[in-house]
Amino acid sequence: MSSLAKNYSRRKIAFKRGNGSFLYATNGKKYLDFVQGIAVNSLGHANPHLIRAINKQAKKVWHVSNAFIIPEGERLAKRLTQKTFAENVIFQNSGTEATEAAIKVARRYFYSKGKPYKNRILCIKNSFHGRTIAAIFASGSKKMTEGFGPKVPGFDHIEFRKFKPRFPNIRSKIKKNTAAIMVETIMGEAGIKPIPDKCLKYLRKICNEKKILLILDEVQCGIGRSGDFFAFEGSKIKPDIVPIAKGIGGGFPLGAVLMTKKVAKSMSPGSHGSTFGGNPLAMSIGNAVLDQIFKKGFLKSIKKISKYFFNELNKVKNDYPKLIKEVRGIGLLIGLQLFNDQKKFIQKLENNKLLTIRAAENVVRILPPLNVKKSEINLAVKIIRKVCKECK
Ligand SMILES: *Cc1c(COP(=O)(O)O)cnc(C)c1O
Repeated sequence: MSSLAKNYSRRKIAFKRGNGSFLYATNGKKYLDFVQGIAVNSLGHANPHLIRAINKQAKKVWHVSNAFIIPEGERLAKRLTQKTFAENVIFQNSGTEATEAAIKVARRYFYSKGKPYKNRILCIKNSFHGRTIAAIFASGSKKMTEGFGPKVPGFDHIEFRKFKPRFPNIRSKIKKNTAAIMVETIMGEAGIKPIPDKCLKYLRKICNEKKILLILDEVQCGIGRSGDFFAFEGSKIKPDIVPIAKGIGGGFPLGAVLMTKKVAKSMSPGSHGSTFGGNPLAMSIGNAVLDQIFKKGFLKSIKKISKYFFNELNKVKNDYPKLIKEVRGIGLLIGLQLFNDQKKFIQKLENNKLLTIRAAENVVRILPPLNVKKSEINLAVKIIRKVCKECK
């Protein structure tokens, strides 16, 4: 009997080691891992460059307080700002901490401008920003908030619809006390639903007009996952605040909130902090991840292999039009939407040694490492095809 609480329904499988796209289970089987810790292991398992980085840093210093200068963190922040819209960074340890910090920064910005009443955040109903008390009420999903009242005030909700208008009545939802709009650029847990570039532009326009901030949660879709460093880049807009996590740590817990100087100015000494956030060990690994992501041609290679993968998956969809409703997503954040419940399908994929994970709306989420090989994509497609045949 497990001594762990039962807040997860775990699949009956455990692993002893991993290598790149593969995981070796205690049952002796070798699995193609297209979960990768849910878009966390951006460079696959046991990446030699990351292993070198963690070992090297482990021999030097693991942790010092943020009361001191941390050179590895200075370097990581510098690199994150040089390549992006951001001018300042606060490090955290996880995605939900990063989104919480984003909310704090937005509120503090208006507080520092003498408008403390501007503190409400407008979010998409049933989106996902993590599991802390504030983040669950930001999402507003019944499943996540049930039993965790009282409701945290300060969040309003809009719908995101598949058809136009995508954001009905959004203007009427922005009140005098609204501080920011916070959305995932690609809604992950909600079923791999990208917000189209046009709509991102529209959100930016409204935020400018109403003089409020735009927070784009890139915890799942950022750091190369979309084929761009950030998923919003295709839209050419600039957000004000961007929480990141998952992929930036390559498997090590690491989160951050990126922001413009304008909003960062309000975060004066003592206004926010974290014991572990920005520790030298995490910072070294973050830097090692960026070494690879920023390598010339790497993002391009993601776009290329993504195109190939989508092509292949669409062929499968065309062969099984009664089973697969849609292949959606961007880059290597891929959703296979089925007409029916996806649980059995995911189990069958696992039986055939391909690991995937669910998302809302009957979606099978497919998340290869960003350095996935074409042969591994081919293997995945072969298994998916086989399972489609079995399910017919
Ligand atoms: C995973 C995720 C989070 C929460 O990250 P944790 O590290 O689990 O706290 C927040 N936002 C988005 C978009 C996510 O996908």
